[in-house]
Amino acid sequence: MLDCAIIGGGPAGLTAGMYATRGGLENVVMFEKGMPGGQITQSSEIENYPGVTGEVSGMEFMMPWPAQCQKFGLKHEMVAVNRVSKEGEIFKIHKEDGTISQAHSVIVCTGSSPRRAGFAGEDELFGRGVSTCATCDGFFYKGKEVAVVGGGDTALEEALYLAKICSKVYLIHRRDSFRASPNTVERVKNAQNIELILNSIPQEVYGDNMGVTGLLVKGDSGEIRDIKVPGVFTFVGNDVNNQILIQEDDSFLCDVNKHGEVIVDISMRTPVHGLFAAGDMRLSAPKQVVSAAGDGAVAALQAISYVDEKLNS
Ligand code: FAD
Ligand code: NAP
Repeated sequence: MLDCAIIGGGPAGLTAGMYATRGGLENVVMFEKGMPGGQITQSSEIENYPGVTGEVSGMEFMMPWPAQCQKFGLKHEMVAVNRVSKEGEIFKIHKEDGTISQAHSVIVCTGSSPRRAGFAGEDELFGRGVSTCATCDGFFYKGKEVAVVGGGDTALEEALYLAKICSKVYLIHRRDSFRASPNTVERVKNAQNIELILNSIPQEVYGDNMGVTGLLVKGDSGEIRDIKVPGVFTFVGNDVNNQILIQEDDSFLCDVNKHGEVIVDISMRTPVHGLFAAGDMRLSAPKQVVSAAGDGAVAALQAISYVDEKLNS
């Protein structure tokens, strides 16, 4: 029986793991389906985490976090969790390999995943020229032209990253103003080799046996522009990974809002005793590493109080 099961090993899960173990909980396991680190490992640069100065990639930034947690006793099980249920006072962690772990408390930190933009050919050519990760795939297009779709922080930051590797970046956005922070918008506008294609929506990505060869984009007056590029990067937001909370009867273990975000109080508690949610997946998350880490710490401190009270009453 685990004192605490942490599902997800991004900034929220790792910080929860460190606080839970360092705060005295025994038998704390972080269930992470891949390598720990979360979404930020896909980022080419992080410059808004306190104390981080200079050019640091998301991967480099997250590298020391798991070892720091293990020092305090956090165990990592590399497995995907299919579902979390509660039977009486006990949580059950149903894992993809068919086994079940049991826990007194659970902190869910499964974050969010990149959304598809929805244009023709996107799914068929995904991984063959269509990508959602510039740091993973940008190098394949060294010296070539690429297209980026989206108008948020991710799209603009990754367009800037690609502009350093590629000969030209076409930034396609469906409106003429951006969600991204003004500072980032300014940098994009000043970049010599980024062409803004505004008020425009991708219609179709096309290609051949080798992969993508171009993208058709429709402007607001209906004209179609054919952009001949071998790489298309889409950054159109994220969906909350809340599937593990869906029960056999299709209800959620705890409440979620219309965006699928888990409803928590300011202590990261859900109304289900012993169940906490932290990071990008919780209600109104600022979707930042610093806030995800903060949430993880808050949730772990609450889990410690919950388990102490439960085992000692
Ligand atoms: P995540 O980082 O999403 O981690 C969730 C983890 O849970 C993942 O490792 C996933 O594998 C795991 N998981 C999911 N489902 C399961 C399951 N069923 N079983 C087991 N494991 C599971 N924020 C900033 O503050 N500054 C930045 O500069 C910045 N840049 C970014 C650039 C990019 C390209 C992206 C995509 C995001 C960026 N962000 C940035 C946002 C930041 O990465 C997120 O806010 C943060 O990672 C959220 O942390 P999290 O722990 O809540 O979730
Ligand atoms: P986002 O802010 O939701 O932006 C998504 C963008 O994609 C929007 O511009 C949106 O257009 C566009 N879009 C959505 N669906 C589309 C579609 N089907 N076709 C074409 N365009 C589409 O997502 P994000 O940029 O990934 O950022 C997510 C969160 O992480 C944000 O809170 C962000 O601030 C944060 N983040 C922060 C940093 C940082 O602090 N440095 C870096 C990266 C991300 P509209 O604008 O018209 O809706």
